[in-house]
Amino acid sequence: MKQSLRTKLTISYLAIAVLCVVLISIFSNLYLEKQFRSYVKANQERKNLEIVALITHQYEMQQTFDIIAIQNIGSSALDNGLILKIEDEKGNLVWDALQSNHSMCQGMLENIHNNMMSRYPNWKGEYIRSEYPIMVSFKKVGSVYIGYYGPFYFTESDLDFINSLNVVFIGVGVLALVLAIVLGTLIARGISKPIKNVINTAEGISKGNFDNKIRSSSSISEIDSLTGTINNMADILKLQEQLRKRLTADVAHELRTPLTTLQSHLEAMIDGIWEADATRLRSCHDEIIRISRLVGDLESLARVEGQNLILTKMHFDVVQLINSIAMNFEKEMLDKNIYIEISKEPTQVFADKDKLTQVIVNLLSNAVKYSKDNSRVDINVEVIDGAAVIRVKDTGIGIEKQHLDNIFERFYRVDSSRSRMTGGSGIGLTITKLIVEAHGGTIEVQSKIEEGTEFIVRLPQL
Ligand code: ADP
Repeated sequence: MKQSLRTKLTISYLAIAVLCVVLISIFSNLYLEKQFRSYVKANQERKNLEIVALITHQYEMQQTFDIIAIQNIGSSALDNGLILKIEDEKGNLVWDALQSNHSMCQGMLENIHNNMMSRYPNWKGEYIRSEYPIMVSFKKVGSVYIGYYGPFYFTESDLDFINSLNVVFIGVGVLALVLAIVLGTLIARGISKPIKNVINTAEGISKGNFDNKIRSSSSISEIDSLTGTINNMADILKLQEQLRKRLTADVAHELRTPLTTLQSHLEAMIDGIWEADATRLRSCHDEIIRISRLVGDLESLARVEGQNLILTKMHFDVVQLINSIAMNFEKEMLDKNIYIEISKEPTQVFADKDKLTQVIVNLLSNAVKYSKDNSRVDINVEVIDGAAVIRVKDTGIGIEKQHLDNIFERFYRVDSSRSRMTGGSGIGLTITKLIVEAHGGTIEVQSKIEEGTEFIVRLPQL
């Protein structure tokens, strides 16, 4: 059966509390009882020695055994559970509690036995007698035999003490359990509430409600980072959703214009309104080229966006590659009178040549496309910390700061109408970034409006 986190936590706290209370009760009971037993035994010996001292004192005072005084000592000893017998130095009986008060001694021993049995049902006690010599001026004048119920016994007040101790343990145990339930429930609620929040928000996100963020913060760092991750995920999904919608709108828009033009031109020619001459056919051809370019861009994107972008790496000189690519832009550069300067120093890289060609083509074509007439483009290649750093710098129109974070997103164009005119679909930099990152590299951009733009690609050399 599945249980809620809250129930599970509460049960766990309760189980831990029960375990602690039981263990503490058992161990402290065992320890205290052991200590108490040794205390009772030591006390027994102390009482015996006190009695011997009393009798010795009496003998010292009167130089003989005074029966009355000894009887007094004997009967107060009997009250404490001790049965006395005194003999003189020749072994003649002076006084014996058992003889003078047999029934009382018997009753007292039975009483102690019953007390001990009430606490320890298997208790095996017996009557024990210890002998102590009575020494006066270093001379033995007699012996005291002290009999008691052994090896030790608890008086009624001792038993009361042990029992009240147990009552305290039970009380503390019950209190601990109540506290465990109350605190456990509170703590469990504190943990499960933010998790419930996360679940509700995640459910909202799964239904497309991306603005539904988790605002509350938690004192538990894992829950805090979980809420942070969910919030982040909502942001990313929102962006993806916006991009997806824009992709559909963009593709539809991009296709509609050339298709409408094509349709109207062809209809006019079919109806005989227009003559199918070379100019009109070329204009139809241009529209078809625009459509093909867009489809080509989409295909390239799909290829590099796939999970397994396969790289066929080899060692080659990237400067040489840049030079041969730049030659293909000669016409555009002549048209706009753009001067291009490329590093001379050969630089080896270990990369997929075709994919890197695409990166350079994209960066160089953007640099030329967004450059003003009579400007320059610099392509600088150097090795820094084991990475080939390729900088493509133009002195063109630049990109406003607020667009810089987005230009690598799919179909992001700073100025859509202008890009459409220049033939851009906003896919080039997305593909560029995906390829560079697949090589374990990075790409960044620095730009100032009306001053120019610099793209910096870092590629690990090995
Ligand atoms: P596009 O095919 O539209 O050029 P890209 O992904 O290559 O798409 O570029 C995205 C956008 O970034 C472009 O629409 C353009 O606005 C901006 N951009 C890219 N390179 C440059 C540059 N060198 N100078 C100015 N703007 C640039």
